[in-house]
Amino acid sequence: MKGKAAINRELCMACGGCVGVCPFTALELENGNKLDLDGESCTGCGICERFCPVGAIKVV
Ligand code: SF4
Ligand code: SF4
Repeated sequence: MKGKAAINRELCMACGGCVGVCPFTALELENGNKLDLDGESCTGCGICERFCPVGAIKVV
């Protein structure tokens, strides 16, 4: 079974790039400065993981 995306808040710079690439709209920028994951919607597809320029999101 696939996992879910997990955000590393130490690394995430809240650029919002991954929000736009998630096909399941599981990612959202809360107040424009904190990345949130909707675990119910995340399928663990890994697209955000490949996209993030700083490696702040991983499927675990
Ligand atoms: S692309 Fe990476 S740095 Fe940008 S909001 Fe997503 S997890 Fe954070
Ligand atoms: S693993 Fe896929 S479904 Fe989950 S947040 Fe990342 S892009 Fe969206």
